This record gives sequence, C-alpha cells and structure tokens, in this order.
Amino acid sequence: MSSFVSRSLVRRRALLPLAVLLAAGCASAASGGAAGSSSTVAGAPSAAGDRVSAEDVRELVSVLAADSMEGRATGRRGSLKAARFIAERFARYGVRAAGDSGYVQRVPMMATVGRNGRQGAALAPSFAALDTVPAERRLAGGNVLAILEGSDPVLRDSAILVGAHYDHLGIGAAVDGDSIFNGADDDASGTAAVMLVARALASGPRPKRTVIFGAFTGEETGLVGTRWYIRNPVVPLARTVADFEIEMIGRPDSLAGGAGRAWLTGYERSTMGERLAAAGIPLVADPRPAQNFFQRSDNIAFAYLGIPAHTISTFNLHRDYHTVNDEADRLDYVHMARVVESTIRAVRLLADGAAPEWKPGQKPVAPAGMRERLGLPAAP
Ligand SMILES: [Zn+2]
Repeated sequence: MSSFVSRSLVRRRALLPLAVLLAAGCASAASGGAAGSSSTVAGAPSAAGDRVSAEDVRELVSVLAADSMEGRATGRRGSLKAARFIAERFARYGVRAAGDSGYVQRVPMMATVGRNGRQGAALAPSFAALDTVPAERRLAGGNVLAILEGSDPVLRDSAILVGAHYDHLGIGAAVDGDSIFNGADDDASGTAAVMLVARALASGPRPKRTVIFGAFTGEETGLVGTRWYIRNPVVPLARTVADFEIEMIGRPDSLAGGAGRAWLTGYERSTMGERLAAAGIPLVADPRPAQNFFQRSDNIAFAYLGIPAHTISTFNLHRDYHTVNDEADRLDYVHMARVVESTIRAVRLLADGAAPEWKPGQKPVAPAGMRERLGLPAAP
C-alpha cells in the first residue's frame, strides 16, 4: 500500500458513499494444517489444491520479509533476491514464465532518494534513456510475471490479472537498532497470496480464461513496475478483463467482520465485489473510504485505463504500517490462509464467469494531469 499516489498525485476528493455493505453469508472453510480441519460449509474451497494452510502462508512471508531481503527496496539487492525466490516458486508450482528475462520483466529504473531519505526509484522512459543515466544510478530487476493459459477455446483469449507488489521501503534510519523495513504485511502478504493462487490454479481445474500472475516492483515509489507493465502487458490490456490485487491481508480487520474476512476497494463501483460476495466469499465494501485505498495501490492505474480493478485487503490501520515493525512474526497466519483461500475462489470465479463491469458512472476518471504523471496512454 502506498502513500505516494494519494499524497502527491491524487487530488483529495470524497469517494461516493457506500452503496452496499454486504455481509457475506458464511465464513470460508478453515484451511488445513495449522489452520485447523477442513470444512464443508458453504464457501469452502472446491478443489483440494485450493486449500491453503497457515504454514503455507507463513513459509512464504517469512522468506520475503526476512532481514536478508533488506526491505526489498525497488531495484536493490534485497528485491533481486526476492524476485529470484518468487520466480523459483512460480516455476515449482507449474506456471509459465511471462517476463522478458525468464519470469522477470525487466523495468528501466533509476535510483532516487525518497521521502525521509528512503531508497526510491523512478521509471525511465525506455532502456535507451536509461543508458544515458550514470551507471551508478541505474537499477536492475523488475516485475515477476507468470501465465497460465485458459482452457476455454474462446475465453482463453481474455485474461485476469492477479497481482501484488513485492517491493517495500528498504533500509532506513534505525529505530531501536532495527533499520530494515521488512514489509511483512505490506506487501509480502499479498505477494504470498499471488504465489499460492498460482499454485492452486496450476494444480487444480484449469481456469477458462488465461490468468496472469504479477509480482510488481516499485509500488511504494510511484507504481513504477505497474506503469511499465501497462506499456508492455503480457496479454493486451484490451483483452485483460479484470485486475485483482492483494494488499495487506496479514491481520484481521474488525470492520470487515474479523478473522478470515476481507474488504474490497471500490466495491460499489463495479459488479466484481457483489458477485464474489453473492458466491459466498466473505468480502465487504471498503469500510474506510476516506482513506482513498482504491487509489493507493497498483489497481488504480488499471482502473484509470477502464479495466475493472480492485484490491482485496484486511488492513486495519495498524501502527506498524510503513515502520520497521512490520515483521513476519506479527501476522495472523490462520486469518491469512482463509483470505488466500477466498482469493483463490475469487480468481476462479473471475476466470470462469462473466467479466465484471463498471456500474453506470462509476468508472474512475483520472484527475487532470494524472495520465501524464502516471505515464498512462491517452484516454480511449
Ligand atoms: Zn506500503
């Protein structure tokens, strides 16, 4: 989750009042392993491979948020290690590489000094332009992308994008001897979810639509990786029918109904949220619209391009946000496992069912200058 977009790019404006605050009718099944026994209640995963245990999630988050990953600052050593780990898992899980260097989609980036002296990054217009930047300012790495082709001869030409950002704030000023912003909740939690969705979909029934799995870089420093992806998509954006992002699902949010339940940004804007909730996924509208979360993650760039794009989250405004205390041992992995199972079900519904649509008048319009500042293509 970024403070960048809302702070410096988006004119503050009230979102529309919540049209609906649906409480889904049932809890999802508890996951296997440490999360408890499996269940037959409505909302349970349909395929065995769609089950996720607390240990599954803990293992991935513990690696991504380890001190050895150095806070995964965009383009720096720690994020390169994280990208390698994500790519190795995508390969192990059986989803195909969709980058331009194996699983990695290289992004032309240069180092900047961000707010509070943090390790920032800026997108260069091209690799040719990057060549004109002093070598010591050029950054390496990029997005980590994988693809699972759809099974339906017609629907496979359209795609669902499932994404999270794996970058975080890197290393900063020490607080009580700790200088590493581990970003366990923000957004190792969502990255782990993307990886586990890939595992489930590759091992279970093949979705009808093609599914793109994206671990994006540079979100915290201005949607850098997503802005490059938009210019270089795996499947043309005109055939990308939905973007489903996962951000900060590491702790239950009482306003979403507590453990295992989540909220969706921009819920009232499209048919996506209500359709998922109607299918039994424990998902409600964003309970804090004044926080502008719809505009504070990678989804907003896709939404401005017209693609129904939302972010699932359970961020409860905890005080470890963007501090060195966002550590792996502070997350609730039983809760997370259930939200990841919900995410798997959501992606299956989006991949197999009707494409979501904006409600009348609800497609977001980029404020003046926003398209240029995000480097988005001109409005259609
Ligand atoms: Zn963040």
